[in-house]
Amino acid sequence: MTGILAAGAGVEKLHAQHWFRGNTHAHTANSDGDSPPDSVARWYRDAGYDFLFITDHEVITDPAPLNARFGVPGRFLLIAGEEVTQLVADTTHSDRRRQAHVNALGVTRVVRRLGERGIALDISLAGTYARNIAEIRAAGGIVQVNHPNFRWSVRLDDLTALPDSTLFEIWNAHTGVNNLGGVDASGRTAPSAEALWDSLLTRGKVIFGVADDDSHSFRPGDADSYALTRPGRAWIMVRADTLTETAILGAIRRGDFYASTGVTLSELQVTDSGITLAVLPVYDSRYTIEFIGSGGRVLATGHDRSASYTYRGDEGYVRVRVTDSNGRKAWTQAARLR
Ligand SMILES: [Zn+2]
Ligand SMILES: [Zn+2]
Repeated sequence: MTGILAAGAGVEKLHAQHWFRGNTHAHTANSDGDSPPDSVARWYRDAGYDFLFITDHEVITDPAPLNARFGVPGRFLLIAGEEVTQLVADTTHSDRRRQAHVNALGVTRVVRRLGERGIALDISLAGTYARNIAEIRAAGGIVQVNHPNFRWSVRLDDLTALPDSTLFEIWNAHTGVNNLGGVDASGRTAPSAEALWDSLLTRGKVIFGVADDDSHSFRPGDADSYALTRPGRAWIMVRADTLTETAILGAIRRGDFYASTGVTLSELQVTDSGITLAVLPVYDSRYTIEFIGSGGRVLATGHDRSASYTYRGDEGYVRVRVTDSNGRKAWTQAARLR
């Protein structure tokens, strides 16, 4: 998907803006992935991705030798990352701990998690987010809060103190992270990751929604195993003028990207007056384009391949979710109305 020109952006003459496809969450055999870094880099390059963050647990898999072997100038780039696998002791949880994993994207040094074997004591889950976010930022990184419903760990209250410009996994393609939330046998409800995102946006926060692979399984012989977390299922499309680490990190920091599980946008314009977008059609898929505002309320729905929305001014924020007739989606960031 390299090099789709943002149609009608009006600034192409100054900056040729391109959409670059990348994954912000992947594991190699340096942590709990099943394949060496070479295989992981090769997979994403050969699948046509433009960039990849390898985010092994508690270790940075050095992108330099991988870029030397697999990088292609302007075509494929690896950027340093780490998953800080924080656990938090909690005697009220059936695991006696909760999970507060965060990705550190573009970091220059390893960020160490709190506690012995990563189990933080005498600190709240929100407290570990605050500490790990500060450490990641001090190490030059961008913060991504991962899979809130993994082991039914993270609640809205744990997230309300997140700083603005934090990335948040609204769709993680790992097969065991409960993206859609659920109700337990005693009737307790955990909202979907997307609904948690709306709750944070409704509170006025600037949080960027991400979809990614959290890939662990690359062995060719496992390609048919749907239970394993194979690569290529979820990603972000980043708008930048060149494929460099500086340009990609800068665009992610600004929230100039959208999340996807298979729907590609051929146009996305967010202006002071509204949002216009168009979908790149695939085969005979049909599309539902929903404009969503405060409280997760659907403000307008379209069924063409393109749609526009003009702000009324009282929506709080407006974001777009596109769903195709095969279940694939795209999610834009929220435009905040002041
Ligand atoms: Zn994780
Ligand atoms: Zn992971």
